[in-house]
Amino acid sequence: MIKMFYDSHAHINMLTKKELEEMLERTKDKNVDEIISCSTSFESNKQNLLLSKKFPQIKAAIGLYPLDAMELEEKELDRAFGFFEKHIKEVKAIGEVGMDYKYCKTDEDKEKQKDIFIRFIELGKKYDKPLIIHSRYAQRQVIETLEKEDCEKVLLHSFVDSKKLMLRAANNNWFVGVGMSVLFNEQVQRNISEFPIENLLLETDSPIRFDGKKAMSDDIISIANKVASLKEIEIGLIEKRQEANYTKLFE
Ligand SMILES: [Zn+2]
Repeated sequence: MIKMFYDSHAHINMLTKKELEEMLERTKDKNVDEIISCSTSFESNKQNLLLSKKFPQIKAAIGLYPLDAMELEEKELDRAFGFFEKHIKEVKAIGEVGMDYKYCKTDEDKEKQKDIFIRFIELGKKYDKPLIIHSRYAQRQVIETLEKEDCEKVLLHSFVDSKKLMLRAANNNWFVGVGMSVLFNEQVQRNISEFPIENLLLETDSPIRFDGKKAMSDDIISIANKVASLKEIEIGLIEKRQEANYTKLFE
């Protein structure tokens, strides 16, 4: 069986041309097979679709970041969803979508975010596409919404803060994404050491800044090594599991 690593959540459109080309060379050397580049704004959707056509390693996810989506008028939202339907067969997933209550001031804002999220959930179901989900300050609310909507294909991005909610996600047969924070955050390390690897996917959220520099998709290997040491298992087993998990969710 072929084993590979995958970066299940990045923003490759935010890299410079040079950064992108150098990163793709390194990922080839390090057995990182595919990178999912998530979209946040109108513009990034177009960029990620283009990148996925140009580089076979890059797979696009289409969507709108919840805080960006919340600012749109109904007409603009309809236009965005028209665009998503038109291109959905070209992409691997829908993301990054979800709910973010950090900068939500009113219940009305929260309701609007939830309504848009449900629209993305319905889009995913219609075309059998997994959802890559952002849930800052709204982790429980996101889980409740997904459960109510009977969602099956779910990756909760950077969902490493609450052991209780992580296990609830695993019980629903969903996946949880772990990123660069596992390298330094002791609480995250504890949560990951007790979380089933059958429900774990690795992600860099590149080019998020880490340790003074931009995270790149080949940093997935550092994350994999850290998870292996926390679990006290061989890196090869992590790689084998990543192959199985990634294929299960995205193929
Ligand atoms: Zn992201």
